[in-house]
Amino acid sequence: MKHLPLFFDLSGRKVVVVGEGPAADRRAALARSAGAAVRQLGDIRAADLRGAAAVFIATGDLDHDTVAQRVAKLLGVPVNVADRPALCDFILPAIVDRDDVVVAISTGGAAPTLAATLRGRIEAVLPERIGSLAKLAATFRTQVNTLIADPARRRAFWRRLVEGPAARLAMAGDDAAARRAALGELDDARRRLAPVGIAHIVGAGPGDPDLLTLKAAQLLREADAILHDDLVPSAVLARARRDAEFLAVGKRKGLARWTQDEINAELVRRVRAGQMVVRLKAGDPFVFGRGGEEVEALRAAGLPVAIVPGVTAALGCAASAGIPLTHRRLASAVTFVSGHSAPENEAVNREATWPALAAQGHTLAIYMGASEAASVRDRLLEAGAHPAMPVAIVENGTQPEERVSTGRLSDLTRLAASHARGDAGPSLIIVGEVAALAAVAQPPLAKVS
Ligand code: SAH
Repeated sequence: MKHLPLFFDLSGRKVVVVGEGPAADRRAALARSAGAAVRQLGDIRAADLRGAAAVFIATGDLDHDTVAQRVAKLLGVPVNVADRPALCDFILPAIVDRDDVVVAISTGGAAPTLAATLRGRIEAVLPERIGSLAKLAATFRTQVNTLIADPARRRAFWRRLVEGPAARLAMAGDDAAARRAALGELDDARRRLAPVGIAHIVGAGPGDPDLLTLKAAQLLREADAILHDDLVPSAVLARARRDAEFLAVGKRKGLARWTQDEINAELVRRVRAGQMVVRLKAGDPFVFGRGGEEVEALRAAGLPVAIVPGVTAALGCAASAGIPLTHRRLASAVTFVSGHSAPENEAVNREATWPALAAQGHTLAIYMGASEAASVRDRLLEAGAHPAMPVAIVENGTQPEERVSTGRLSDLTRLAASHARGDAGPSLIIVGEVAALAAVAQPPLAKVS
C-alpha cells in the first residue's frame, strides 16, 4: 500500500486552492462539499496559507505548480498538486459519494483510469440511498452501544439492521417506517437472552481471492472468528473482517499444531458461546478437507452448522494451467485422488483401485502427491499406465507464484523434485493425455500411441 487512506474532517477548516482552470474549480467544489472554507487564488503568497488545513495546487503550469508547492512545503501545509504525484503529500482518490457513505479508490497514482473504472463498478452496486441507511444507523449508535453489551450480539444487531427490513425501508425512502422497524429490532435484540452461534465450514478456493464464492466472501465479512488452514493465503484472509479473530489451525505435514480433535473442540466451544465462526479451508471443504469430521462434531453437539463449497484445487489448477480435465477425444472421466500414503488415506490407496485409475482416457488429479511422486509413478506403472503418459504439476495454482511444469509419467520423480522443496507451495499432479494441453507445454507433447 503506497498511501494510507484516511478521511479528513475539513468542516470549518481553511483550504486553499491555487489555480483557476476546471481542475482547480473541481478541487474547490470537492473541499466545499466537505464543509471547508475554501479560498481560491490565482497565485500564492505565504500569508494566504496561514492556518490552512490543506492546499490544492492546479495551475496547469509546471513552474507555477512547483513554486506554489515549495511555499506550502515551507509552511508545513499538506499539499496536493494536480497530475503531479511526485509533488504531493496526499493524493485525491476516485470518490463515490453517497452522503455519509463515501468510497475512495486509489491506485497510488499509477492508473487513474483503472480507479475511475472501479468507481463506475462500485457506483453500480451501491444503492443510491445507502446514505440514508448510514444516517439511520448513526441515530441508533449510542442506544445500541448502551443496550447491547455483548459484542457478538451487538454485531448481530447491526448486521440485521443493515441487511434486514429496516434497511430496505430506508433505501426505499421511507425513513419513518425504517426507524420503526429498527426500534422493533432493537427491542427483539434486548429480549433475546442467549446469542445463537453457528459454524460455517467454508471453501476458500485454490488461492486467488477472486475465486471465493459470493457466499464465502459475505461470510468472511461477517465472521466473529475465522479458523483457517495454513494453505489459505493472506490475499484471501484480507477479504475478511479486519477485527475478526483469526486462528491458524493448519496442520502442515510434519509440523503438527492443532489435532483434528482440538479443532473440533474449538469449533464447538465458540459456537456454544454464540459466535459466528467461519472454518475456512483451502479449496473445497469436502475434498480431502476433513470437513465431514467437523460437521459431525458440531451436529453431535447439537449446534448449527452450514457448508459452503469452494473451487477445489483440481478445478482451479486445471483452469489456470489451461488443462481441460475431460476432453471429447482424450478423457471421459476424471478422478480426484490423494497421493499421500498416510494411513488415513488407505481407502483410496488400496491396490485394487490403481488399475482403474491408470486406464487410458482417464484423467487423474492427484492431491498431496509432489512429495510422494516416486510411489505415485511406481503404482501407476505397475497398474499398467504408459510411461509416456503426459503429466503436469501445478504449484501454487491460481496464485501469483503459480508454476507449472509438464513431462512424462516415467519422469515424474525428477519433475516433482523441484515442487517438493521445503519452501515449495502446494502442488497438484495431473496425469493423463489432457496434461499435454497445458498452456506451458513446450515443446507440445505428442499423443500417447
Ligand atoms: N480441500 C482442498 C485440498 C486439501 S489437501 C481442495 O479442495 O483443494 C491439500 C492439497 O491440495 C495439497 O497438497 C495440494 O495437492 C492441493 N492444493 C491445494 N491448493 C492448491 C493450489 N493452490 N495449487 C496446487 N495444489 C493445491
